[in-house]
Amino acid sequence: MVAAEHHLVAKDILRTFKSDDGTELIALQNFNLEVDHGEVVALIGPSGCGKSTFLRLVAGLDMPQGGTLAYNGEPITKPDPNRGFVFQQANLYPWLTIEKNVAFGLKANGVYKEQQGRVQEMIDLMGLTGFEKSYPHQISGGMAARVAIAQTLVMDPDVMLLDEPLSALDAFTRAVIQDEILGICAKFNPIVLLVTHDIEEAVYLADRVVVLSPRPGTKIAEIPVDLPHPRNRISDEFIAKRHEILDALQFD
Ligand code: ADP
Repeated sequence: MVAAEHHLVAKDILRTFKSDDGTELIALQNFNLEVDHGEVVALIGPSGCGKSTFLRLVAGLDMPQGGTLAYNGEPITKPDPNRGFVFQQANLYPWLTIEKNVAFGLKANGVYKEQQGRVQEMIDLMGLTGFEKSYPHQISGGMAARVAIAQTLVMDPDVMLLDEPLSALDAFTRAVIQDEILGICAKFNPIVLLVTHDIEEAVYLADRVVVLSPRPGTKIAEIPVDLPHPRNRISDEFIAKRHEILDALQFD
């Protein structure tokens, strides 16, 4: 069978680490997930259950000890600008302007000449117009998060890996950027894997919420969120979904 386009498959993933005292720490065990083109999947679970580890594996920044991880039928063995990572702390280059921060990936991948028009396009799309020549220390946390997203988007990724990129922001800024992320999804249709601790954020953004157990992390529930966008955070259906996820998170 030919694999569907833009299809991510994780099968029986095992990732262990050596802890400081030399004992083996199992971060992820028997972790399975399939994600199709255009799907937004939120990963939620207690701290230390392997969510970031899984994103790093999908990014190709790390390899599992067991199981298989494939994108479009090909094993993931190394990073690829096609799978963009947005970290919790926007990792901007402090010595570069916003414009140059956004252009960085294009230059590093040798495609700046042909694709430089994308830099301004992404700056405009993320509401950063007018700040092209500013430096990271001159902009707010919300703007830094937008620059981090633009840095990834400029590479036209098929997969966006978002590791709590909004967790340091105030509730208002967070809500605005959540809508911007939905706009990106509607426009570019990437696979999005979003790690979040915020159940409301998961229900607002995701097509599916995957709940992980405490370490060793494995999938204990997969909850579809089939509400139309824009979602009303105070509707009965929205609140019912929040409860469903919260119930799945009540481990005993
Ligand atoms: P989460 O994102 O769900 O909070 P992580 O994926 O960051 O969890 O971590 C899962 C577990 O693996 C944690 O106990 C963490 O300490 C451990 N871990 C992650 N990366 C490493 C590493 N490079 N070396 C040692 N332990 C690690």
